[in-house]
Amino acid sequence: MRTIRSLTAFVLVMAALAPGAAAAAKIRVVTTIPDLKSLTEAVGGDLVEVDSLTRGVQNFHEAEVRPSMMLKLRKADVLVENGLELDRWVDVAVDGANNPNIIRGAAGRIEVARGIPVLEVPTTRVDRSMGDVHPLGNPHFSLDPGLAPIITQNILDGLARIAPEQRATLERNRQAFLNRVDQEMARWTKTLEPVKGAKVVAYHPSFIYFVTRFGLVQVGIVEDRPGIPPSPQHLVRLIQLMKSEKVKAILVEPWNDVKLATRVGEEAGARALVMASAVGAVKGADNYIAAIDYNVKTLAEVLK
Ligand SMILES: [Zn+2]
Repeated sequence: MRTIRSLTAFVLVMAALAPGAAAAAKIRVVTTIPDLKSLTEAVGGDLVEVDSLTRGVQNFHEAEVRPSMMLKLRKADVLVENGLELDRWVDVAVDGANNPNIIRGAAGRIEVARGIPVLEVPTTRVDRSMGDVHPLGNPHFSLDPGLAPIITQNILDGLARIAPEQRATLERNRQAFLNRVDQEMARWTKTLEPVKGAKVVAYHPSFIYFVTRFGLVQVGIVEDRPGIPPSPQHLVRLIQLMKSEKVKAILVEPWNDVKLATRVGEEAGARALVMASAVGAVKGADNYIAAIDYNVKTLAEVLK
């Protein structure tokens, strides 16, 4: 009796604290990377509460599975993952979370790589013992604005599986967001138009979708192959190449060896730029649009 009374009191207090909110519980979403948090918030709007397992300054390939991840996953209705092995570690965290909603194949599991035209798919079998971290092709597509329609469609379909009655609202949210991306896209394209065809080098191949989208050309990478530190011989060749191709920029992620990139840049006459390789990777890039905006402005300025 006492329990029921205090429970009733609790419910009344909660209702008073959040008028109108008590009836509609939010869909609890966990994403593996912050880019997908931002995109899920765009599609889900008020219907979702989203948390990311990693932060933008991290190397997503190497995220350490922690008990705090499992706690977040235990309560999740939906898990949004990138796929193409970028966030393969999440399977370990899901195993530890013991939550049937989000196991592989469950309705609450969304993989946004579905339908993405994947770049840099290896033509020969990749030997994982060599450390190559892109065995299925390049997984760093989330900040190519041209792919926002595919990614958000996957998110929409997944959320609508969990809350079919909300499909119309989710579709409206998605369309409004894509309209915004279209507007920004026109501006971004115009901003980068003067530097079209400019050649760049990336530290880790994290920007190939982005540079291809805007007509820039990646002529080399600092890492010998994805995830493997460069050999001195490779760096000598790269610096020669950068000089002959007149490369002005090395695109760097916060977790790369920025000092090494700076040294290579100094030798080759280029600038090492720490980019918004993800949402939250640099100051000011705290959502999807802002991150792309940061990269567009940075490149337009340095490549001109
Ligand atoms: Zn990678």
